[in-house]
This record gives sequence, structure tokens and C-alpha cells, in this order.
Amino acid sequence: MSDLLVRGIRPYGRDDDPVDVLVRDGMIARIEAGLEAASVETFDGQGALALPGLVDAHAHVDETLWGQPWRPHSAGDGLASLIENERRYRPGLPPVAERAEALLRDYIANGTTAVRTHVDVDPDVGLSGIEGVWAARDALRDAIDVQLVAFPQAGLLTRPGTAELLEDALRQGVEVVGGIDPGGYDGDAVRHLDCIFGLADSYGAMLDLHLHDPGELGASEAELVIERTRALGLEGRVTISHAFFLGTVTEPRARELLEQIAGAQISLATVAPGRSPVPPLRLCEELGVAVGLGCDGIRDLWSPFGIPDLLERAMLLAWRSGFRRDDDLTLALESATSAGARLMGLDRYGLEPGCLADLVLVPAETPGDALMRRPPRSLVLKRGRIVGGRQR
Ligand SMILES: [Zn+2]
Repeated sequence: MSDLLVRGIRPYGRDDDPVDVLVRDGMIARIEAGLEAASVETFDGQGALALPGLVDAHAHVDETLWGQPWRPHSAGDGLASLIENERRYRPGLPPVAERAEALLRDYIANGTTAVRTHVDVDPDVGLSGIEGVWAARDALRDAIDVQLVAFPQAGLLTRPGTAELLEDALRQGVEVVGGIDPGGYDGDAVRHLDCIFGLADSYGAMLDLHLHDPGELGASEAELVIERTRALGLEGRVTISHAFFLGTVTEPRARELLEQIAGAQISLATVAPGRSPVPPLRLCEELGVAVGLGCDGIRDLWSPFGIPDLLERAMLLAWRSGFRRDDDLTLALESATSAGARLMGLDRYGLEPGCLADLVLVPAETPGDALMRRPPRSLVLKRGRIVGGRQR
């Protein structure tokens, strides 16, 4: 792989004077002002802000209608109606591989270098969604890391045969086992959690649970998750997605739960949802709980909303969190970068010598400016390869 010298950029988290970055063998080799490197391809960064590659910690790329004709929303309200609507119309959609690839290409153009995506697994579709996302991942493997979650969207206990399919998916190499509202939707929190934690333990998989259940129901389920994470030694490998309960219990109770979540090294993922609470980012930061950020479903049978741009989603997270100060805007951006990387277990992530050269240049003054304006990215590197950017 050829070397690349990126001149005149301002890496996020350093002081403001422009520096040069030498990329060698897909890694960041040096970061200094006035680097000289003979016969190396150079790129003029023009003083842009450099961020480590953006990370989507919670996506559903198998469900997207991105790149397809506009489709009016056809579902009623409520989780059961949304699931039924999807079940009805999904068979008529173009193949998963085609839709997922179209979406991933635009994620890459916007500077995203890693995505964790929950992929539906149920007795209707079997593992076909997983196979479709694998095909898209293979087509783009030099440009983006795609980590799959085998996700029982339609229920685990309520759809017999699903647990066996999850096990098949893990046996075939899926990295993460999913779950969904074990009490509120699937009807038996203990059995649901015992099943997915058992699978994570048996196959050395990570675990990422959709938990929309609010209030004490969600809180008690989170306590079951904490208990099992500790009992099985899965610290650092478990994520609770959405975690609406943290915004619907009292503040002292939220703090008590977050202290336990921090102790078990459980991460949270949020998508800055429309009407539901987002986790209290400042408190999570104070206690050392990583909160990854995702775009969730983008233009699918669940919702017409969303574009594959983590800067926009970080702006929405900041907005929903009531943030205005620069340090708060930076915290929202960290959900879309380092926190997501920690949640996914990405190795050698960051803007330091020795890290993988996954980075994005944003022609912006500061992280806050980047979130508010979201200008087109001027360069996207994946392991040192140019995979996106307006200027070539
Ligand atoms: Zn989701």
C-alpha cells in the first residue's frame, strides 16, 4: 500500500496549529508540523478539522429503502403494528444486499468508517438478511468495517425457532447477539435474557439489547442484564441500546443504575429518538459509561426519517440533550466517534501514531461548527486508502 502525506490539517483534540500526518501501511505513522517525505503522494488538507472515522453504533442497514423510490409510510402506531407492517411488505422489496450497499456507500462518503448493524433474524426470513448484509460488507470491505448483530426483531420467545436461528448466525461468524424488550415485548425477561446471554457465552459473542421498556420495567431488566454480564465475565462486551428507562426513572435512580452499568463496563447506544428520552450524556461521561450513537433505521418501513451522516445525528443528539456550549457539542461528537469505537471493540482507533488511518476531514473551524454546518467531507481515509471526499 502506498504512503500518503496529508498536509495542513488540525486533528481533533490537539491545539489549533495545522500539522501534517504521514500514513504508512494503513496506519498513522507520524503527526508533526512540516513533515518531509520524498516521493509520497500528498493531499492538501487546507486547514480542515480532522476527526477519527465516524462510527455508527446502531444501524439497521438490512431494512433501508435508501436509493429506492419514495414510499409513503404505511404502518400504524406502536411497536406491534410496526413489526406487522414490516412483515407484510418486506417480501416485495429489492434484495437486502442491493439496498444495504447503497446505504453503506453514502455512509462512507460522509466519513463513516465503522457500522454496527442489527439484522433481522426470524422464521420468515431465516438468515437471508445476514447473508445480504454480508454480501454488501464484502463488496465494501476496503472502505468500511461492518459488525453484525443477529437481531430477533419480531420476538425471541414469541416466535419459536428464532433462538435456533440466532445460534446458527453466531456459529457462522456473526459477532454480536441481539435481543428486544425481553419483558415488555417478549413477555418473559428472565428466559429471554438467559437465552441470549447463554448464546453470547457459548460463542464468545458480544451482546446488544434493544431496551425501549420505560420506567421501572426497563430499570429492572437492566439490573438483570448487569447481573448476567458480571456472572459470565462479559464486562466490556455488552451494550444496552436506547435505554429509555434512564429518562423515565427519578434522577437518583438513574444515577444508581448508571453506577452499576459503569461497574459492569456496559455501554449504551442511543439514536437521539424523536419523542423518547436520550441517556443523560453528561452524567454518563462523569461515571465513565460510553454512549455510542447511531442513525437507527434510515428511510425504511419503520420511518421515513434519516440520512447516513453521523454529524447530523450528533447535532440531533446535542439538540435533544439541550446542549449549547462547545464542550457539550464536543461530547455529542464523541458519541459518534470514540464512544462508538469503544462499544464496538474497535482496535487501534484514534488520531495518534500507531492507530489505523481511519479519518475524515471536515472543512470546519471546530467540532461545534462541524455539527452545525455539516459541510461535505473533503477526504475520507479507511486504513490509509482514500475512499471518499469532495476533493481528489
Ligand atoms: Zn434499533
